[in-house]
Amino acid sequence: MQTEQSKKLFYQAQQRLPGGVNSPVRAFKSVNMTPLFITKGQGSKIFDKDGNEYIDYVGSWGPMILGHANPKIIGKLKETLEYGTSFGAPTEGEILLAEMICDAVKSVEMIRLVNSGTEAAMAVIRLARGYTKRDKIIKFEGCYHGSVDPLLVKAGSGAMTLGIPDSPGVPLSFVEHTLQAKFNDLNSVISLTEENPEDIAAIILEPVAGNMGMIAPEHGFLKGLRDLCDREGILLIFDEVMSGFRVDFGGAQSIFGIVPDLSIFGKVIGGGLPVGAYGGRQDIMIQIAPSGPIYQAGTLSGNPLAVSAGLTTLEILKDQNPYPELGRKTAWLCEELKTAAESAGIQIQTQSIGGMFGYFFSENKVSNFQEALKSDTGKFTKFFQNMLKEGVYLPPSAFESLFLSTAHSEEDLEITASAFRKALKD
Ligand SMILES: *Cc1c(COP(=O)(O)O)cnc(C)c1O
Repeated sequence: MQTEQSKKLFYQAQQRLPGGVNSPVRAFKSVNMTPLFITKGQGSKIFDKDGNEYIDYVGSWGPMILGHANPKIIGKLKETLEYGTSFGAPTEGEILLAEMICDAVKSVEMIRLVNSGTEAAMAVIRLARGYTKRDKIIKFEGCYHGSVDPLLVKAGSGAMTLGIPDSPGVPLSFVEHTLQAKFNDLNSVISLTEENPEDIAAIILEPVAGNMGMIAPEHGFLKGLRDLCDREGILLIFDEVMSGFRVDFGGAQSIFGIVPDLSIFGKVIGGGLPVGAYGGRQDIMIQIAPSGPIYQAGTLSGNPLAVSAGLTTLEILKDQNPYPELGRKTAWLCEELKTAAESAGIQIQTQSIGGMFGYFFSENKVSNFQEALKSDTGKFTKFFQNMLKEGVYLPPSAFESLFLSTAHSEEDLEITASAFRKALKD
């Protein structure tokens, strides 16, 4: 595999972009490589500067559920483009996208569009605090909610109390209201609520965790959180930036039958353009300015191009309901991966729901962050590199989920499965 051109661009990029990229995981650091510079995407494939072709399981980290350069989305974007790109005034498309999301996700009665998942997380925390008049937030170790100061906390091991920021530049005082619980461990949440009575504004989580590798909620976990929130007057916030319109048209909340008070979205709802959103119960949402006192604003929020790509994506998804088929295909890939690993004498754990799946090189089932950290990242790195040589582009980190699109053909899957066998044997 020739990657000279990408290497050249990476050198050039590093002169002006810190680390050569505009978002850290893209740099391929954790797989001891330099990144590939992508020139083109088409359906299930991406192409790099050296002309190599890859079957893509990153899908821009989630948005590209219909594959790259989907002709319907491109067509709609061109049409929208002719009328201008931004007005900073209301447009009809924003209503249609809002209605589409509210119809699909029953807990969402009203919604506000923003420009990224990070922005949605930041705003929803402010809203939850403003509405409840409480300061503290419970988040879960290993759950990612964008690069928002008070949520950039993983903290150490054991029973967590006060958060320790993950990044320099986040003052300790900014995270003093952030409490850490363990994913899939209801007792860790109950202890925090007992230690902080009437102080907790919200519990925020990824209902299907996708940013510490993929970890599904165990039976009763989400229901337990819902009941606890009801008892304690705490708002339950589902971060469905990744899982929304990815695991099911109604999000993870529809699969698990849990109704959160607020939800945030991003990725798929922008169809590959920058969009985020937060929404939920009407009595809470009307507290946002200008209908209420809780301030939040954005120059490009509800941008016509982004809305048009998002709306077209959701229309196609609603029409086609690809989720059962995506689910069968991701389950099949997981089976193939397991079988290939077994033949090679390697221990692997896999999970899949709808259009997302994940794996850990681990002997035991992985159900939280600590267990994810115990997986064998050395094996992962070698596996990643071997897969890339076989023309399969996986997320370049052991702690990310994989995404399948409707453009992945049976042939793509067969090629991927045979790459699994070869990569694991090697
Ligand atoms: C990607 C992601 C975010 C952040 O969204 P950006 O658009 O990257 O800011 C937040 N939460 C979850 C669960 C995500 O997967």
